[in-house]
Amino acid sequence: MTTNPTIAIVGSGPIGSTYARILLEQLPQARVIMFEAGPQLTDRPGESVRNIADPAAKARAREMSQGPQAGEYRESLGIPAGTVTEGMFTARQGTHLLDFGGTGSAHADTFPAAAAATNVGGQGAHWTCATPSPAFSERIPFIGDAEWDGLIANAKDLLHVQSAAFADSAVGAAVRSLLEEEFGAELPEGYGVSTLPVAGDVQPDGSIRWAGADVVLGPLIDPASPLSARFELRDLTLVRRVERDGDRVTGVEVEDLRTGSTSFVAADVVVVAADAFRSPQLLWASGIRPRALGHYLTEHPVVISTVALDAGRMQRFATEEDLDAELARRAQNPADPVAAVNRIPFSEPEHPFSVQVMYSETTPFPMDPAAPHANNRWGYVNMGYGMRKHPRFEDAVTFNDDEPDYRGFPNMTIRYALTERENAEIDDATARLRRAGNALGTFVAEPRLMPNGSSLHYQGTMRMGEADDGTCVADPWSRVWGFSNLFVGGNALIPTATAMNPTLMSVAIAVRGARKLVEEVTSAPARATAEATA
Ligand code: FAD
Repeated sequence: MTTNPTIAIVGSGPIGSTYARILLEQLPQARVIMFEAGPQLTDRPGESVRNIADPAAKARAREMSQGPQAGEYRESLGIPAGTVTEGMFTARQGTHLLDFGGTGSAHADTFPAAAAATNVGGQGAHWTCATPSPAFSERIPFIGDAEWDGLIANAKDLLHVQSAAFADSAVGAAVRSLLEEEFGAELPEGYGVSTLPVAGDVQPDGSIRWAGADVVLGPLIDPASPLSARFELRDLTLVRRVERDGDRVTGVEVEDLRTGSTSFVAADVVVVAADAFRSPQLLWASGIRPRALGHYLTEHPVVISTVALDAGRMQRFATEEDLDAELARRAQNPADPVAAVNRIPFSEPEHPFSVQVMYSETTPFPMDPAAPHANNRWGYVNMGYGMRKHPRFEDAVTFNDDEPDYRGFPNMTIRYALTERENAEIDDATARLRRAGNALGTFVAEPRLMPNGSSLHYQGTMRMGEADDGTCVADPWSRVWGFSNLFVGGNALIPTATAMNPTLMSVAIAVRGARKLVEEVTSAPARATAEATA
């Protein structure tokens, strides 16, 4: 491979950004062009919209990310509006459903909450920033422990992960103490109740500036950095096809969504990081169709609830003065309701769940002011148990060449079912969620299993594996089997059943893939010189 490669990256989320950063830092003559189908939302590309203080600006940034469900914004681009009707199932703010119900919508009745974000920064502009590390059988069996720990450390640096965010919150500490009383004796050492690692930078007032793809891109989007001269981000540019010549890819066909014009951009390497549904769809549309493509779809079944914290219980570990101090601190940053984040991590066999407990002054849904526990002085916790889905070939997104979707790609159908094994884990988690809620206060939203697809953590559809045996799409370094210069990235690569939020793991996998690419580029001339000398 040439020592001054042009690298085309499809998708500007945290994973595409990881590739861009490592490749430009480690290959001094490389050039990266990153293509993003959605618009740039913030002056700093890829910033988390959670950092936008003005509620109207925040709402607009979220709407701009909602692709076919973006209403007025979409129409202003001259693209016909989606046919979303009031009352239909809607997606989380900043995302759009794949099965949005209009013409060209995916078929996902078994996975109805499947959603995506279409904007610079991808879902990483909207994410909650929870970044626990995979543990036990969540880890990839064929990557050694020492290497893996190094990759996770690199991924934490890239995402600005903090292990002790809000650790000084007395209210957060009281929540931890109550959960520790309830569950501590059942959990193994090192995997007890703790603060949830999150991606962001703690500000002097104790609030967090949440991380998006912007922090991963870092110097690439800093005009003062020489790296920025070799990085180009093209927003509103849809990659329609990866072109190939035999077992090498040669570049990408792109459509400028502002003008509708299409062109071919030659590249020495292509990295597809366009999420766990649209990446396999793009490969399929490009005629790259390994048997496992789109199969082995997993996510996290999620059981959630909201609990009003009980004053009596909280006062065993925190005082009224602590609460006043917490509320005063919170008042400085009204744009962000999250004030402390706790968790119980995945452990095996004791606790095969990942539990998130977010303390907030308000509920995530409007409450009748006259309802019991409305305006609860001690606030609320929103709790979620994330569970495993064990990979099966038959849980899959498939593509239909004869039915175009709203973008003209082969349309998606998602088939997915929970098995007895998952249902048993869901029952167990629901019982534990009840115990957690009763330990902390009173339920204002009862535990409920969310519809399939709600986790937004879609994995397995381009899984990596050790051998090209039909059960995986990529090799252990994220290269599509059979291609030397086509890399894939994202949660879709994760081959294991996991319960934890997957982005940190996917960034670690991307670091490994990017390093392999660097190694190949840099070793090629050395090999050529050696051969010439010989
Ligand atoms: P994405 O961030 O999805 O980016 C893919 C990009 O590719 C998109 O911008 C898309 O527009 C673009 N694209 C697609 N097709 C094309 C094409 N053909 N041409 C050009 N561009 C294309 N994860 C966690 O680990 N912890 C959390 O707490 C967490 N919370 C979340 C909360 C919310 C509300 C959401 C929406 C997600 C959350 N996630 C969380 C998931 C997390 O955001 C994703 O794991 C992460 O963003 C995946 O990164 P990615 O780069 O692979 O894909």
